[in-house]
Amino acid sequence: MHDNRYTLSVSEIPDAWYNLAADLPEPIPPHCHPRTGEPVTPEDMAAIFPPALIEQEVSTERWIPIPDAVREKLAIWRPSPLVRARNLEKHLGTPARIYYKNEGVSPAGSHKPNTAVAQVYYNKLAGIERIATETGAGQWGSSLAFACDLFGLSCKVYMVRISYEQKPYRRSLMKLWGAECIPSPSPDTQSGRSILEKDPDTTGSLGIAISEAVEDAASHDNTNYALGSVLNHVCTHQSIIGLELKKQIALAEDTPDVLIGCAGGGSNLAGLIWPYVKDTLDGKGPRLVAVEPSACPTLTRGRYAYDYGDCVGMAPLACMYTLGHGFVPSGIHAGGLRYHGMAPSVSLLAKLGALESVNYHQNAAFEAGVLFARTEGICPAPETNHAIRAAIDEAVRCKQTGEEKCIVFNFSGHGHFDLLSYDKYLAGELEDFDLPQENIDKALADLPRASVEVSA
Ligand SMILES: *Cc1c(COP(=O)(O)O)cnc(C)c1O
Repeated sequence: MHDNRYTLSVSEIPDAWYNLAADLPEPIPPHCHPRTGEPVTPEDMAAIFPPALIEQEVSTERWIPIPDAVREKLAIWRPSPLVRARNLEKHLGTPARIYYKNEGVSPAGSHKPNTAVAQVYYNKLAGIERIATETGAGQWGSSLAFACDLFGLSCKVYMVRISYEQKPYRRSLMKLWGAECIPSPSPDTQSGRSILEKDPDTTGSLGIAISEAVEDAASHDNTNYALGSVLNHVCTHQSIIGLELKKQIALAEDTPDVLIGCAGGGSNLAGLIWPYVKDTLDGKGPRLVAVEPSACPTLTRGRYAYDYGDCVGMAPLACMYTLGHGFVPSGIHAGGLRYHGMAPSVSLLAKLGALESVNYHQNAAFEAGVLFARTEGICPAPETNHAIRAAIDEAVRCKQTGEEKCIVFNFSGHGHFDLLSYDKYLAGELEDFDLPQENIDKALADLPRASVEVSA
């Protein structure tokens, strides 16, 4: 019998986050104001974010200490396991070694609590008593509800109405952790009321839910807003994934040749790769691969430009790969991968040529997820299936070439609340659509202008 899991003790949880901004060959372009196009000031952000997070958002310090109070909460489930997928390797007959970092062991079932816990802590430190946020399928809402519960803050989640009705179990989790979760649009905000007046039966959208949460935070002194991906400080908090991986892969006496992660807003991928990027930029690190759905191919088919962070043009402009803020992807089951943009740090790496990207249709992704469940036993989230597909394809190429590569992918979450989509896949009811170029061109025709120049 060979070793297959590389575990660390609680005392080995990293005591500082790694901030990639310290080691980039060019700075991440600043976020800009949605109306003026000028770089946002700390004062602009102070209405909805606490000082420590505003500071982290623009920090170029390489190491940011993790407060003990945050490490204590992270220790509920961290360090997360690094597992060698020996049964999957055997099934594929590959000479490659496949490892996965299992972020599905967190209480909410994904990597998102890594940043939720940190964000809630800094809000509490700033005297904030309540946090408002939006959620689509409920992964971020449940992570934030959990974190608020740990630190004794109230939490209000505006959940896109169609998901509120179709995904009752994540809603139940939020209630269990003491959060108030209401369908969006709601009668509780100006933005919600005006939409309900025009269209009482609307299914809602993430853009509307964001507007409601931001309005709630901006109009209550004791309330702030929190975002679960994309922003620099979110990626910094997720760097704990790659930092732990470095220690664990050393225990396995191995070194990654390729790191793979699925990419929606880019935070779990950033968390995995950030601590390795400097080596890759210096020509001595692993290959880095982002995996997207074909229905929302931000890195593979989007443009590097300034665009609104939300789909209605209220949120700041970020410099990133984007499909256009008005882009509406088809209703694929990997809800967490349906965002039109990509984290600015991840986008910059793609622009610099340090990050590769691929995309897969959802049936190909689910096929990989089912194979993973049937060999390694764990049912992955539909988002995670994209990373698994790319890891399997890499391992199959190794079989053809005889290369004994070390492949590591991030297992961003489990799929226990997504079993209905597995039922549909197994019944042959999932559809793959080819995304016409004209849909992308149309959404990209409407990009806003920032005062900062971007070189493509
Ligand atoms: C939210 C989510 C994602 C996508 O978000 P990123 O910011 O790109 O990491 C991926 N996997 C799971 C399980 C998620 O919940």
